[in-house]
Amino acid sequence: MKTFFNDQHPLHHGRHEMFRGKLVPCVEVPSRADFVLQELRARGLGEVASAPEVDLAPIERVHARRYIDFLSTAWNEWVALDPANAELDALPSYWPIRTFRSDVLPASFPARMGLFSYDAGSPITSGTWPAARQGAACAVGAADHLLQGGRSAFVLTRPPGHHAGHDFFGGYCFVNNAAVAAQRLRDGGVARVAVLDIDYHHGNGTQAIFYERGDVFFASVHGDPHTEYPYYLGYADERGAGAGEGCNLNLPLPRGTGVARWREAMAIALQAIARFGADALVVSLGVDTFAGDPIAGFTLQSSDYLQVGDDLGATRLPTMFVFEGGYAVAEVGVNTVNVLEAFKQRAG
Ligand SMILES: [Zn+2]
Repeated sequence: MKTFFNDQHPLHHGRHEMFRGKLVPCVEVPSRADFVLQELRARGLGEVASAPEVDLAPIERVHARRYIDFLSTAWNEWVALDPANAELDALPSYWPIRTFRSDVLPASFPARMGLFSYDAGSPITSGTWPAARQGAACAVGAADHLLQGGRSAFVLTRPPGHHAGHDFFGGYCFVNNAAVAAQRLRDGGVARVAVLDIDYHHGNGTQAIFYERGDVFFASVHGDPHTEYPYYLGYADERGAGAGEGCNLNLPLPRGTGVARWREAMAIALQAIARFGADALVVSLGVDTFAGDPIAGFTLQSSDYLQVGDDLGATRLPTMFVFEGGYAVAEVGVNTVNVLEAFKQRAG
């Protein structure tokens, strides 16, 4: 399996996130990706490549231009507000909820930051944009690898992507790597693409991007949004709209769910993907379903991820994995590579 590794990822290194009234150290840290890379190399899973050179066009296929303009200039604008800001992460303080206007692009940087975000847990740092942009380039590289006949690929990047929507960031995510990849596959001639999101948290950004599309099926197994982040999307009655009616499948599960029930849900998702007739699969691979994860509530064990990879390998679809969440840093490498190695053994 060919891995596309984002060597720019450490440039995104948030200091603090706002959590229930307190600034706390960031949970999404650079060592996450380094542990996965270390484990990949230790087990000899295959070639590790860098991101190809790509322009912004594949990113703008799924994200609004004004949002990309914002992300690419955000740090400079933040520091321009006050030179002392260079020592702080940028976090939003205002949001235009529901009946407020979102068509007007305010001149104020803090107001624009609120317009394009939905939580205060996703700091923008000096290196957020170059890291996120390079991650998207890795996603393009992996999609192109499948388009050229490769059977599998892994995008090892951070910040993660699945909470980022057409024009918003949140949940530690800025550019939606899985969506960039799915669109790249479509643009490269793959007729029907499925995105399966198995991160603990619902992939609200990916769902929103493809919600009215009949050519990209989105399925997600995740913590019930009644109690789990991202709260406002991810319910079972969200089934797609317009041309996408029936092409969205949410399988929320209660906190405390273990591997047996979790695998049943993933089997339902894979059956739906087969019925859809997918020609390629993009897996948003978060391993925050692990029992020891500090911000999640399922109880999968490290050895269970071998079974997950085996289940995915049985689909026989050209498959690319995109690294999402997983915050039990000491185990994130083993858990992630367990999925990939078992997949490879099954899929060949
Ligand atoms: Zn997650």
